[in-house]
Amino acid sequence: MKIVRSIRRMQILCREIASKGRKIGLVPTMGFLHEGHLSLIGRAGRLSDFVITSIFVNPTQFSADEDLAGYPRDEKKDIRDIETAGGHIVFIPKTSAIYPEDYQTFVTVEKITESLEGAFRPTHFRGVTTIVTKLFNITRPDVAVFGMKDYQQAMVIKKMIRDLDYPVRLVIAPTVREKDGLAMSSRNSYFTPAQRKEAVCLYRALETARTMVIKDGVGNVAVLQRKMKNVIKSICPTAEIDYIAFTEFETLRPVQKVSRKHVCSLAVRVHGVRLIDNMKML
Ligand code: AMP
Repeated sequence: MKIVRSIRRMQILCREIASKGRKIGLVPTMGFLHEGHLSLIGRAGRLSDFVITSIFVNPTQFSADEDLAGYPRDEKKDIRDIETAGGHIVFIPKTSAIYPEDYQTFVTVEKITESLEGAFRPTHFRGVTTIVTKLFNITRPDVAVFGMKDYQQAMVIKKMIRDLDYPVRLVIAPTVREKDGLAMSSRNSYFTPAQRKEAVCLYRALETARTMVIKDGVGNVAVLQRKMKNVIKSICPTAEIDYIAFTEFETLRPVQKVSRKHVCSLAVRVHGVRLIDNMKML
């Protein structure tokens, strides 16, 4: 497996791979990898000949009060895990190379970035779409694999690929969960064992909503939200809920009456750690 840190070298390597008619799969990550990330690498491996995993903690998607400096990192372990998962290249560019001094160019997707995460993190998606654009331009992937865990992000990238005519196939891989249902996340490492137990509240609330929708035929958003809040508070009394939303899958438009084709997304602060999760009401 190759470790590439230079943008120029990555570009040259990708041109060589493509010129041999081999398909490139890209898995963008911020490192501190877990089974969720590794499942994306496995998926990319089945859909392409050469899997590039990028590790880049992207400063432009963090706001000033977020956890950029303290974001967990373990490059050595990540490299070992990527190799075991079947990755071919790890791309680890320097921040100063991705964003040289006086950097001024950003990519913005409009409407669907305004709700849910975008409403609470106004500059977040501009950072995401800018770094993904740069990674697409550097690697020119045939396939890019993103996780359903970041559902809105996946839909934003989908829109960007269509709107900017990127010849990239987007694959959205299912969320990998811990045994108790908590969605795997690099940020779970912030919890003490006692706090970690309470972090299951998001999953339990989603499961409750799903059961109400599919078994009891409940479609009223306010009723579902109230029940979910109760579930969250009963597991983690100090939880602070940013939002609980029911939306159409692709457009992210809020729905009035919830049914099986809709998605529930939520963001909750559990002991100061902001977690997100989502579930199709299937
Ligand atoms: P991150 O390193 O958090 O930026 O995530 C990199 C990619 O991994 C994104 O496409 C995420 O949606 C995806 N991802 C993160 N957590 C999970 C998970 N638990 N299951 C599946 N994919 C995930």
